[in-house]
Amino acid sequence: MKILVYSIAFLLFLFFTCNVHAEENLPVYDLSVSFDIEKNLLKGFAAIHLKEDGEMNISVNDIRIISVKMNDQTIQPEIKDSIFKVRGKGIIEIVYEGIFKDDNESANLQNAGVVTKNVVSNRGICLTNRWYPGIDGKAIFNLKALLPEGFTAISEADEIAVLKTAKGIEYSFHFPHPIPEINFVAARYVEMRETYNGIEIFGYFFPEDIALAKTYIEHTKKYLQIYGDLINPYPYQRFSVVEIFLSTGYSMPTFTLLGQDVVRLPFIVDTSLGHEILHQWFGNHVYVDYKAGNWSEGLTAYLSDHQYEEEKGRGPEFRKNILIGYESSVNPEKEFPLKNFTGRNDFASKAVGYGKGAMLFHMLKDLIGNDAFYSALKEFTKEKEFQAASWDDLRTAFEKASGKNLGWFFSQWLEKKRVPSIEVRDPRVIVLKGIPTVLFDILQNGDTYIFNLSVKIKTDTAEITEKIKIEKGKESFEIPVQGDPLEMIIDGNYDVMRKLSKDEYPPVISKLLSDNKRLIVISEEKEKYAGLIDILKQEGFTVKEDYQILDEDIRTNSLLVFGFDGPVLKRLFGEVKKTGSGFVLSVRKNPLNTSKVVAIAYGDSKDEVDLAAKKISHYGKYSYLRFDKGMNTDKQADATENGIITGLYEPVQLVQPQKTIKLDEVINTVLDKPVIYVGERHTNYEDHKVQLKIIMGLHERGRKFAIGMEMFQKPFQKAINDYMSDAISEKEFLKNTQYFKRWQFDYNLYREIIEYAKAKQIPVIALNLWAEITKKVSSDGLDGLADIERSEIPESMDMSDEGYKERLSEIFKHHRNHETRNFDYFYQSQVLWDEIMADSIDKFLRKNPDSQIVVLAGTGHIMYDSGIPKRTYRLNGKDYVTVIPGTESFHEDSGDYLFSAEHLPAPPTFKLGVILKEKGGRVEIDQIVPGSIAKSAGLEKGDILLSFDDWKIDDIADVNIFMFDKKRGEKFTVKVLRKRFLTGYKEVILNGTI
Ligand SMILES: [Zn+2]
Repeated sequence: MKILVYSIAFLLFLFFTCNVHAEENLPVYDLSVSFDIEKNLLKGFAAIHLKEDGEMNISVNDIRIISVKMNDQTIQPEIKDSIFKVRGKGIIEIVYEGIFKDDNESANLQNAGVVTKNVVSNRGICLTNRWYPGIDGKAIFNLKALLPEGFTAISEADEIAVLKTAKGIEYSFHFPHPIPEINFVAARYVEMRETYNGIEIFGYFFPEDIALAKTYIEHTKKYLQIYGDLINPYPYQRFSVVEIFLSTGYSMPTFTLLGQDVVRLPFIVDTSLGHEILHQWFGNHVYVDYKAGNWSEGLTAYLSDHQYEEEKGRGPEFRKNILIGYESSVNPEKEFPLKNFTGRNDFASKAVGYGKGAMLFHMLKDLIGNDAFYSALKEFTKEKEFQAASWDDLRTAFEKASGKNLGWFFSQWLEKKRVPSIEVRDPRVIVLKGIPTVLFDILQNGDTYIFNLSVKIKTDTAEITEKIKIEKGKESFEIPVQGDPLEMIIDGNYDVMRKLSKDEYPPVISKLLSDNKRLIVISEEKEKYAGLIDILKQEGFTVKEDYQILDEDIRTNSLLVFGFDGPVLKRLFGEVKKTGSGFVLSVRKNPLNTSKVVAIAYGDSKDEVDLAAKKISHYGKYSYLRFDKGMNTDKQADATENGIITGLYEPVQLVQPQKTIKLDEVINTVLDKPVIYVGERHTNYEDHKVQLKIIMGLHERGRKFAIGMEMFQKPFQKAINDYMSDAISEKEFLKNTQYFKRWQFDYNLYREIIEYAKAKQIPVIALNLWAEITKKVSSDGLDGLADIERSEIPESMDMSDEGYKERLSEIFKHHRNHETRNFDYFYQSQVLWDEIMADSIDKFLRKNPDSQIVVLAGTGHIMYDSGIPKRTYRLNGKDYVTVIPGTESFHEDSGDYLFSAEHLPAPPTFKLGVILKEKGGRVEIDQIVPGSIAKSAGLEKGDILLSFDDWKIDDIADVNIFMFDKKRGEKFTVKVLRKRFLTGYKEVILNGTI
């Protein structure tokens, strides 16, 4: 019965006669459809006229075939993998139906804006995905649709006829060109129409958005004009901008679909609309031969999105964002050659197809020049109209227009999977024949590519830019310049598709969303974030509770941490401050692995989080986002270097000492700073003299303060206090604090300071931690610590100081065995060390709010405020000042005061002249230095030291303790055990003189 109904409906339609040009043997496809909106039902009848003998695949996908006739004979199709075959020429008639429900669009973060589902519902009809029996290749389509009153329909057409009938409204679409597929949209639209240069421009908008139609039509005129001039005149007679209830953006011949949420964004007319209109030429006029790769997105993106930014002077920024997007989302598992791109389904495929694709055309234009580039595109479009074209067709067109062989160019950018990774090596400046010349090597890591590279050299007087041709894996270049070269910038305008260097790559959201290993760190507040966590879990994020997170997790993942005050953030950044209300997402470099990121997200309510969650993926290139009830109110990208920048000559820093400040004046100025840091080079006595003078100066001015010292460890505070209160001797103090075992530097360097403190009853505070813990961290990381050791270390650690990390990495490189050691662990141990000292200072000041503290520590812990000062400040917000020896760096911001003290030898510490070893709890002489104090006292190799005067020797440090305060000519006795031939050990007492 049904069949009969359809056949009658079919006969009632009036078909246009088609002027089929060129491919006369193409199938003609007559399709008529009607709808039962309430049931989400499409009823269809297809009559396919096959004009050539042969086999044809008919694909059925989501539709249900009701009957098939071949030349009036009913046949039973054998459907396999959604396909059945027919043979011969004649007419195939297919009756079918499809149910297309309007269920929820599943959120797909990686591919927002591409909805390919079919819908038949009260909201409207959107059929873009094989909603009729599909055939191989192109056909001439004649579509008729019967719609309920109130609906307006759009499909590929140069003309649309509308006829009111008793059953509803009949739409007939006339499109006289061969086309691989058709699409259909209908809804309760308001229509707006204008004619421009013989083209009919339509806007189909929902009543609530009809006010937007005018703007869209105006911009459409502009784009049709621009691209008509640039390429060829617009190929069709009408063009429609169609608002759609799904979130999507699409272009088909003669119309474009823009989702309601998209249409309302004010910038779309300046961006996406132009892109979609350009697709009328690239994709919808010249079709894409998908089997041979999709060239149309790269080309369209280049001549639309890129072009609009280029015109505003933001081309380099746009291209850099392409490279950032590529770096963020195309991890090695997701990387594929451009020629394999057919369409986007995630960030990685978009970065390849659109990003790398656009860069290919940018480099091509640079290579063959504007004229050849655009005339090739005109030729190509004319030549391949209404045909599927491939990358090869494009290459042929560009070769013809430029007269150049471009095989190598297309093959390297299309077929190689990766992108060039370049490195500058051995940059140096030499003066050749009186001309300053910059020499450098360019290395390609991985595959070798051929490309042009711009090199800009800035000198003190000029700026020159040269283009060099890179052809080999390693090449040397020389560029003569004028003036003193300061800096070399390679590819500062981002003209080459390449890997970004570390300093060019900011931490961005797309890295978080597409890293190969991603971890969500949740805390007790997880309910609030449940919606977003669900979305991300589907994206491949794994989830862990904050207290379970190991350093290993942090190092091997990009992290998303919810809340801004959890233990993981404290461990990495010390403290994270709330930066706004609503919903905030901020991305930072992962301090334990700078190739990964740590993102921090927090929201004021579940509602705020849920509303923002769907939108995050649109902002992949940013490092910071804020939303208010789902509306973006702030977005920022972290600044990074533009181009690969190499410093060529660090200018010498000179100080003009017209006026130097006396130490006394400095003391007067810093008098009331809560924390006064005085740096030292440990073995430079003059530095310790400066420390002492500052201490004395403060005391003399009546200040109440303590001295915090890196040289002592916290567990020995009691021994320090005992000595300060005279409960133990100086020797016992050194023994009980294990000074010589742990600090080892000559005690005479510090002795005056300690003695002054003791005499004036200035508290001395041990700042340092057990070296055992930092050593352990240095070799195994924080994960290597036992729980008891962990309890010793502060919860909050700021690992994010890049400059400090860089300075430490320089130091690390000079360490022995650095190749086999892990720098991350080394860095962690250094930070831990600083954090411990900052924590000790903070604790002291909290307990003694009316006291100041003078901190004595190695300059490295104080310079640039990086080691201790910033950390203490983070903890207590108290003002501080730094005074450091200027010898190591006269850099402006390395300290508040840089002092220059003349070299001063330390008070002499006499050496016994022995090499000792500890053996079975006893100290044995291993070697005696000729002419030494030991030799003249009669000590011998093999002697076991028992005591000096009445000072018992338990370990080597005890010998140091005995010796440090000896004066020349002082006499001593030493008791040893000496081995006698056959009779064992005997006690011997010897007398010596220093
Ligand atoms: Zn596109």
